[in-house]
Amino acid sequence: EQEVADYRKSLAIRVSGFDVPRPVKTFEDCGFSVELMKAISKQAYEKPTSIQCQALPIVLSGRDIIGIAKTGSGKTAAFVLPMIVHIMDQPEVVKEEGPIGVICAPTRELAHQIYIEAKKFSKSHGIRVSAVYGGMSKLDQFKELKAGCEIVVATPGRLIDLLKMKALTMQRTTYLVLDEADRMFDLGFEPQIRSIVGQIRPDRQTLLFSATMPRKVEKLAREILSDPVRVTVGEVG
Ligand code: ADP
Ligand code: MG
Repeated sequence: EQEVADYRKSLAIRVSGFDVPRPVKTFEDCGFSVELMKAISKQAYEKPTSIQCQALPIVLSGRDIIGIAKTGSGKTAAFVLPMIVHIMDQPEVVKEEGPIGVICAPTRELAHQIYIEAKKFSKSHGIRVSAVYGGMSKLDQFKELKAGCEIVVATPGRLIDLLKMKALTMQRTTYLVLDEADRMFDLGFEPQIRSIVGQIRPDRQTLLFSATMPRKVEKLAREILSDPVRVTVGEVG
């Protein structure tokens, strides 16, 4: 209604899609566990950023999302926090190997930053995070993945290499994040992204974040997301 529309406007948020969940005002509104609330407090995050206010309830409801917001807007926590909830919600019987959450990022620096952020929230839950990207020993990464993990943060090229080496399978992967999708396309990773997506079960939850939405990224989004909600923050291309 009007109140929700006004609140979105105050956050500089625009949404489109079917049956869009209403934005939250606080982290308490998200229904996070005591454990996760503690981890959030530890980061001194007092309240969710604009993108988080709208993206958190969407992703927590299990919906696919296209999130368009500029750098520094807090997109990482918008996909990491619901990923922790998603993983903790898995039944005990899901004991296969391989990550439940897979995050693709364009560069090793970005993958590393996401890894650090994911570790902050997963440590207290006993969730294991691995980061794989170029410029580091493939053999070491192979061994780390073989040891098992619930979350993998990766650059597309290195993830493909490790999949070919059978360092991991994505059989139990049900949560896929494509972060900075426009930059991944700029760097020529479209074929790798398509290959990765093709190896993940279609009933996954898919999240795509980007600062801009060029036509090629739009096309990919249409192909790989199911009934997504689109959230745009501020004035972005
Ligand atoms: P983006 O991916 O949109 O560029 P990041 O996820 O890297 O943005 O977040 C930018 C900075 O804001 C990081 O230092 C992060 O720790 C911080 N941050 C994220 N969410 C919050 C929040 N709710 N409150 C305060 N700081 C936050
Ligand atoms: Mg980011």
